[in-house]
Amino acid sequence: GEVGTLPSVVSESLLVPTLDGAVDYANFDHAASTPALVSVKKAVDTALRTYSSVHRGNGWASRVTSAWYEQARAEVRSFVGAREGDEVVFTRNSTDSFNLLARCLPRDTQVFVFETEHHAALLPWSARRTHRLPVPGSVGDAKVLLRAALRDHRGRNKLVVLAGASNVTGEIWPIRELAAIARKAGARVVLDAAQYAPHRRVDLDDLGVDYVVLSGHKLYAPFGTGVLAGRADWLDAAAPYLAGGGATKSVTSRGVVWQEGAARHEGGSPNVIGAIALAAACHALRTHAEAVEEHERTLGRRLLDGLDAIDGVQTYSLFTPDHERVAVATFTVDGVDSSLVSAALSAEHGIGVRDGKFCAHLCVDALLDDPYAAASTTAVRASVGLATTAEHVERLLAAVAELAEHGPRAEYVHGSQGWLP
Ligand code: PMP
Repeated sequence: GEVGTLPSVVSESLLVPTLDGAVDYANFDHAASTPALVSVKKAVDTALRTYSSVHRGNGWASRVTSAWYEQARAEVRSFVGAREGDEVVFTRNSTDSFNLLARCLPRDTQVFVFETEHHAALLPWSARRTHRLPVPGSVGDAKVLLRAALRDHRGRNKLVVLAGASNVTGEIWPIRELAAIARKAGARVVLDAAQYAPHRRVDLDDLGVDYVVLSGHKLYAPFGTGVLAGRADWLDAAAPYLAGGGATKSVTSRGVVWQEGAARHEGGSPNVIGAIALAAACHALRTHAEAVEEHERTLGRRLLDGLDAIDGVQTYSLFTPDHERVAVATFTVDGVDSSLVSAALSAEHGIGVRDGKFCAHLCVDALLDDPYAAASTTAVRASVGLATTAEHVERLLAAVAELAEHGPRAEYVHGSQGWLP
């Protein structure tokens, strides 16, 4: 009977100071990090009562902790729809997952990546031949660009890096179609699900991808835990990511035999509490997937339509304005610097947005190269999540409309107390 209700987020709303007093904080920065779910806090509280290091012997706490750690892995395994033979490796975050995969690629691997990707997906491949695909203007264009690049660069091992959802525009990439093109050309695909997994069901098999990467702190769990899941062969053939205890089967004076499987790349005492938190979040999101999607679709649509209706505000799309997207909107206000927009929203309205280039400089530069963009070099991003209410969206739209019409009430500087006039 729980489908149709949302999992509750942190129960107390946060009061933040504004120029006019204190207000309930309207957090529009879910695309950066999300607040922990109540069920995540509970799981962490329980785990903190008794724990020890995993896989280190037969002490009771160590055995219990080891079992929790492997149960957490099993939950994540279901969450990403891992196939038989797929590995689920716990990492620190998505950046760490991409760097781990980069270290495991066979020497001759060629990497294909769109310039629109987040730096975590764009940059870790420098030790391999990398082909950067330009910013596509349409879905058809993305397919043509990928097909042509794969055809022009023959070789035995190829990896295509794909975003699930853009962290700049929220647009959902045509994952299945691009993965099918890659597969036909004999290339493997890694899906950056950092922005996708919090909003839509990830299924390795159904999406037709070989690897998936995600971050716990964008999935309503705390910082410090990420995942790389996917095919085992390259991971098992590569040198351990972190050499040390836990990654070895045996060490003698003559040499080391390394583990296979996830343990090979999880050297040192793992972040068990983080894995438990992430698994609790995965469980909640899986249970409430329909309600989550419905909540975000409603508020996301209102947010984007509302911003589009304001004179002097531009919103941005990689594909088309009505392309399927998660609830993220990137915009600029004509004549007002984006850092000033975000400072004013915070100080005057208790609204938290992100300004800048969102670790996707090439993507934002390409989007802002627009005759209507009023020469902005950075943009503002508002992202909806489970802590967002309809009142927050209306407050944001009213505040942006006021800014677009009258400008901010003051110039703001960033001080130790936050943004100050
Ligand atoms: N990929 C995308 C699409 C992202 O939005 C982010 C985080 N902004 C990352 C990768 C990197 O995640 P993390 O900072 O947790 O490593």
